Amino acid sequence: MVMKYKILRSRFILPISDQLGRNARISDGYILIEGDKIKEVGKYDQEIMKSFVKKYGSEIEIIGEKETYLSPTNELKQIYGVALPGFVKAHGHDHESAIIGIAKDEPLTTWLDEAVNLYTGFLHSEEEKLTKLLGVSPYELSYLKARIDDIQHGITTALVHHCNFNKYHVDELVRANKKAGTKIMIAVGAQDRHYDPRILDKPASIAVERMETYYQKYRNERNVQIIPGPDQFFSNGPELLKALKKWSVEHKTLIHIHSSEEFATTEWFKGEYGMTPIEYGESIGFLDQNTFVGHQVHCTEHDLEILTKTGTKVVHNPLANTILGSGMPPLQKFKERGIEFAISTDGSGSADNQNIINAARVAAQYQKAFHHNAKLMTAQDVLERITIIPSQFLRFNTGSLEQGKLADIAIIDLTVPNLTPTREDNLVENIIWASNGNEVQYVISNGEILIYNYKFIHIDISDVLQKIQMLSELFYEYKSNTLAQKATGIRTKQG
Ligand SMILES: [Zn+2]
Repeated sequence: MVMKYKILRSRFILPISDQLGRNARISDGYILIEGDKIKEVGKYDQEIMKSFVKKYGSEIEIIGEKETYLSPTNELKQIYGVALPGFVKAHGHDHESAIIGIAKDEPLTTWLDEAVNLYTGFLHSEEEKLTKLLGVSPYELSYLKARIDDIQHGITTALVHHCNFNKYHVDELVRANKKAGTKIMIAVGAQDRHYDPRILDKPASIAVERMETYYQKYRNERNVQIIPGPDQFFSNGPELLKALKKWSVEHKTLIHIHSSEEFATTEWFKGEYGMTPIEYGESIGFLDQNTFVGHQVHCTEHDLEILTKTGTKVVHNPLANTILGSGMPPLQKFKERGIEFAISTDGSGSADNQNIINAARVAAQYQKAFHHNAKLMTAQDVLERITIIPSQFLRFNTGSLEQGKLADIAIIDLTVPNLTPTREDNLVENIIWASNGNEVQYVISNGEILIYNYKFIHIDISDVLQKIQMLSELFYEYKSNTLAQKATGIRTKQG
């Protein structure tokens, strides 16, 4: 039976809220949920509980005590954990969940050619055969696995940059998201140059029509927003980018793109077109406060000026940037100039996991070491960049625990050895510096419980994992017999 109200009592609550104060820390707190929204957040008190019993009677489900309902004589049992807003990921790719650990120790363009683009090419050419073997579309299966990866790490809201062949498979992603119970913004890919010839959008109107079709189809779909997401600055000519920007302005949506991720590609672009990707973006009117770019690792002073002036936002992906050896963006310069940025994981192929707490930690750790300054990028700062800040970017009503927000909550278990001892004063620091990122014991999205005491409620995990393993074995076989498409940006190898 689905109850109208839910309540939980937690050892600590971190609201990360402008309403309650971004630094607020509540010891022994409660969260009352009505339907899909948060109704109250406060300090636990037996009298308040009694008043809830009076008002809502047996309509309240207690989270942490299944099948138990609130009664005046029954003190609410405390979950020994910390309740935070469900994490918000502002840049990722759901098609990479089956290619973890492939083409490692290689730079971006080689990884794109030999892992991600080869994999999506494999799904594209073998789709029918794979669907028969797996009993489900291999696209939908990969996307569902990505949703699972997010939930496992407490991420309830995500921007899914649906690049390359995936731009043709938005329906499967919407279905996977529905099964998972998360919220996604789908940035639908486009490209018309320097890429696999099978997916080039020529003329540009093809990409615009695709946007319009998906937008109309899913404009009333709960938990889904559709925006344009041209893959890269280098893979989109000016006419295509202008057309997609115009579409986004007319439809009042955000627009998203990869920018200046790798040094070699950024240099090559400068040589080829006589400007940096950001200068190019500005020259065609692509950049403003509704544009957010993934990475922006390689920045000139002029790029920084443009980002500041236009209000363009950046999503930093420290796991992918370090694994691929791309470098790290000048975050202190972003801060000095007021360039807004969030911290994210990128896709599972380049980051190899969706441990967003780890991403926040690596971001802070790198900046402290690089600048020889321990005071930079505090735990509170980076925690805000995986909750309230990306939520403001994406305009989902999440990212904080406060009245009126969607009830998206992640509870981190504090009974584990690595998080003991945790007190009110070291709580935020422990989450960033001592957590493994996999102590997420409960996950709630839109008031629905997705993980209950480490167990997925709606999804048959073992079935999905088994099929993903099978898909991965089949891809390995395919990869051994197929040459990579040397078609991404510059060539890193002759061929
Ligand atoms: Zn990416």
